[in-house]
Order: sequence, then C-alpha cells, then structure tokens
Amino acid sequence: MAEKSEKEPVPEEEEAKKPVKEESEKEVAERREWLMDMMKLSLGFAPTPEKLLDTLDMDGVVNYIKSGKCKKIITMAGAGISTSAGIPDFRSPNTGLYDNLQKYNLPHPQAVFDIGYFWKNPEPFFLLAKELWPGVFKPTPCHYFIKLLADKGLLHRHYTQNIDTLESRAGLEADKLVEAHGSFRTAHCLICEKEYSQDFIEEKVFAGEIPRCNEPGCEDNIVKPDIVFFGESLPKRFGELVHDDFKECDLLLIMGTSLVVQPFASLMNRTQHHCPRMYINLEKTGSGPSNPISMLMFGGGFKFDDEDNYRDVFWQGTCDDGCLLMAEKLGWKEELQEIVKTDHAKIDENAKALKARSKSLESDKEEKQEEKGEVVSKVVETKKSTLGKSESDTEKSNIPKSKTNAPKSSVTKSSSTASRATSKSPSSSKTKLKKS
Ligand SMILES: [Zn+2]
Repeated sequence: MAEKSEKEPVPEEEEAKKPVKEESEKEVAERREWLMDMMKLSLGFAPTPEKLLDTLDMDGVVNYIKSGKCKKIITMAGAGISTSAGIPDFRSPNTGLYDNLQKYNLPHPQAVFDIGYFWKNPEPFFLLAKELWPGVFKPTPCHYFIKLLADKGLLHRHYTQNIDTLESRAGLEADKLVEAHGSFRTAHCLICEKEYSQDFIEEKVFAGEIPRCNEPGCEDNIVKPDIVFFGESLPKRFGELVHDDFKECDLLLIMGTSLVVQPFASLMNRTQHHCPRMYINLEKTGSGPSNPISMLMFGGGFKFDDEDNYRDVFWQGTCDDGCLLMAEKLGWKEELQEIVKTDHAKIDENAKALKARSKSLESDKEEKQEEKGEVVSKVVETKKSTLGKSESDTEKSNIPKSKTNAPKSSVTKSSSTASRATSKSPSSSKTKLKKS
C-alpha cells in the first residue's frame, strides 16, 4: 500500500478554475525549458551546471550541508524508512497481515485498498487499520533524522508515500510534511463528505465497529480515513506544493523507495539541473537512460555510473544506517540518539494508555449491549404498570408508583444497577413529600 500507482491529482471543478489554468500553463513552459536544458546538457551544447559536491559520495553531501550553501533540503521517502519500525510491507502476501484477512475471501490482497471493493465490503480494511493503527509503531532513527533536519532549519519539505504517520509521530510539523498517499489523521463520510477526526475513527476501530456517519439523514454511510486508495486521486496539498517546492530545492534526499510508483517516482526529475541528489536504499534503482531521445521520452533518472555525473550520489544500505552515518558525519549523532531514546520512552507510555483504552472500549460495548437488554425489559415493566394503573390524579399516583416500581424493575436488573435504582427512589419521594 505504501507504494502504488496513482493518477495526478484532479483539481476540484468549482475551486478557482483560473489560477489552476494559469499555473498549468506556467508549468508547461517551465517544463519545456527544463527539457530543452536537459537536451542541451546531454548533447554537450550547454556548459555542465555548477558542481556543488566536492565528491560524489556521502562525504560530498555532508560537506555541502556543512558549507551552509544548502538550506532547502527535500526528503522523499517510501516504505523502506518504516520497515525497521516493524511495519510490514503491504505488497508482500507472506507478512501475516493478509493471513488475518483470509476469512473475507478477498479477490486479491490489494483489494483491501481498492475503493470499489471498500464500498462493498469495508470490514477487511478496518480490521487491517486496527493492526496498523498509528500509535502502535515507533518512528525509526531515519524519521528522527528528518525531524532533526527540520529543527536545524534545513528541511524545506518531506514527501512521503507512507500512511503510517510516523513522520508526525516523530514530531515533524504538518507544514513540513506532504503525505502523498494520505493518512489516518482525518476521515470523511463517503456520501456527505463530513469530516471526522482521527479520535472518532480510533474509537470505532478499536471497538471493532465500522465508523459510520452521524449526520441526520446520512446515518449508516461509511466514514473512510483519508488515505489514498487505488482508484483515488492524490491529496490536493501534493498538487499545490510540488511545483514550487522542487524548483526551490537545493538538495534532494531520497530514502527507502524503489522509485517505481508514479507520480511520486518522477519527482526526482523536478529539481533544477544543478541540484544534488542523494539516494539511500538497499538496491540501486532509478538510473535513467543516457540517450537524450529516451530521456525526452521517459524523463531523466540518476546518473550514478555515468562519466558525466556531477550531482547524483548513491549510498547502499538501510535508511537507518544511512541516516545514522550521516548524522555522525554532521556531528549530530549524539543528539539524534538522545531524541530517539527519549521519544521512544514517551511512546511506550502512550501505547500502554491506548491498550487500556481499547480494552475499556470493548467492555463498554459489551455493557452497552447488556444495558440495551435492560432498557427493553424496563420499558415492558413501565408499560405493564401504566396499563394496570386506574384513572387517578397524577399527584397522588406519582409517589406510590415510584415506590412500587423500584423493587419491581430490580428483578430484571443486574445487582449494581438495581441498587442505583433503589437508592434513587427514596430521595425523589423525599423532595415530593417536602413540596406537598
Ligand atoms: Zn454522511
């Protein structure tokens, strides 16, 4: 789920048609210019852009950051930055995640995130949501490294494909974050589009219920967390920010993504030609064609192994190892380790509270169901007593009624509620008696 193909976001019809059009014309012109520059570059008709890295390795990138010339870093991340947190790969059928869903006879594992399937059967998704619920997992050193970049005033924006919200759990502010595939933070009714909070969904999910709309006339319609399903467009925020962000970016740091998912993967080609790019991943992918015609057709890519590479750096390994090494080289290692330690301790505390809450929600649900049964029996009792009551003046009949009612209903009530009911009736008759 963390990585999947999506269409470009579709701008909402009514919302400011004009600015969107002007923006796209501007974008087209800039794109044309970018392609022309790339063409000239690869044919040797234009001087190579200024080489900003001393060496094409991590040290080169670290020196560039230390030099102070780089203040607008964009980080891009995929599932790889969360694997060490224990978040299973959604695409792998052998994670155990899908085993739990087998009772639903899904046509294929990805159907859980298929919007068409969700309309028909939301249950498997919410079961999965409970297992993946934000709060159960801890951010990784890589997440805290991104947060540290923000603290140092170096992070322009973080683009993530992940829906685990570990970036914000690590303390990254919403303003610095673009969740390209959405998140659990908010939710909307599928029909009336009323917005719901994460707390609202959380309560339902942990009680094992399907969240439903509470708008009058819209009851029973499903409320879906705002994560992007297959067949849905990307969040508006992505479309709004991506153009200017990548134009301004002065260092692109890509981590833990195989760069096969569009439009996310093509973001790497949106920076200016001189902007250095570093890729931290287990496998070396994302190398583009060197032939200029292919480039025009398929877009550029990394040039790690090309003779004319002047800006692309590949570091092979896990995202955590890469970030820890980078932090060490930048002189931030102890700071990073301290953040990881203290924040993880905090999360452990919160997780305990969440677990307790989940348990109490479940027992509340059971209690509610019990009470429902009690209410029914109480109504029956009241009806019986009303029917048996002969026509008399209300003032008189009120006192004996409450007196006789209490022991009667206590027969059907559980012992605890019965004691509550019996203690109530004497006090209420007291006030009545005082009045008269
Ligand atoms: Zn609704």
